[in-house]
Amino acid sequence: MTTALLQHPIFDRHEVADGHPECPQRLSSITDALHTQDLYDHLLHVEARAATQEELERVHAAPYLEMLETRAPDEGFERLDPDTWLSPNTVPAARHAAGAAVLATELVLEGRVSTAFCCVRPPGHHAGQASAMGFCYYNNVAVAAAHALASGAVERIAILDFDVHHGNGTEEIFLSDDRVLLCSSYQHPFYPYTGAPSQPGHIANVPLPAGTKGPDFRAAIEAQWLPEIDRFAPQLIFISAGFDAHAGDPLAQLLLTVDDYTWITERILALAGRHAQGRIVSSLEGGYALDALAASACAHVRTLASL
Ligand SMILES: [Zn+2]
Repeated sequence: MTTALLQHPIFDRHEVADGHPECPQRLSSITDALHTQDLYDHLLHVEARAATQEELERVHAAPYLEMLETRAPDEGFERLDPDTWLSPNTVPAARHAAGAAVLATELVLEGRVSTAFCCVRPPGHHAGQASAMGFCYYNNVAVAAAHALASGAVERIAILDFDVHHGNGTEEIFLSDDRVLLCSSYQHPFYPYTGAPSQPGHIANVPLPAGTKGPDFRAAIEAQWLPEIDRFAPQLIFISAGFDAHAGDPLAQLLLTVDDYTWITERILALAGRHAQGRIVSSLEGGYALDALAASACAHVRTLASL
């Protein structure tokens, strides 16, 4: 079945300071590569919508949402933390990034597509219930996962996060919700210096030392993620798809290759086929070396779409 690609022009208008790694060119590099690799025309193109207040409030505190709206500047920047700033279009872009994941979830649950990739910015997995950090404002995947659970269509979901940074916001949001299996692989010790102990059936955290290469990454995933996912049997799988564990990434020191992203996507696709009717919603998180990001994201999308 078809794979959806969710995009929106507002994502390019979330401005960052000169030299900031989470720049608009990240998305155009992926789109250009999807064209070059003859993938673009094989995808179902869907324009993202904004997440509603009700959808955001399922995971974020109302005063936090109000703070973002209130502090958004009319021009220039407003700093929330040293590397997470608001520009005039940040809040609408973030609403559409979360809304993309919600809409992708609806498309998948309605059976219109089996898999979807949300090519969005800002990313989301560091955003907590009431905190923006690490380039993230709304937790896109968490908002979509909460939407899926609220729909009543599924009772068990898995969130798989292979970004090089621990998905601390997602963990905070679902820490005491055993309808959600959280699997995160990440460089450790490293920003954001979090990661609860693994709990069978609920949290599978895989910390990896700097310098970890593909074979050791794959062995850790085989041993610590895959059996947990098989036991949990999620009815829907979300991916926090960060590509900053690639060897070429300037922000981190893991040494994955494009082939490793193909491999892990194949593994996830097989699990989704066994347990979740093939249903996967993937949303872009990090990845800051433009060439490596584009190649890795293309490999991920090619595999999701079985092209
Ligand atoms: Zn990251």
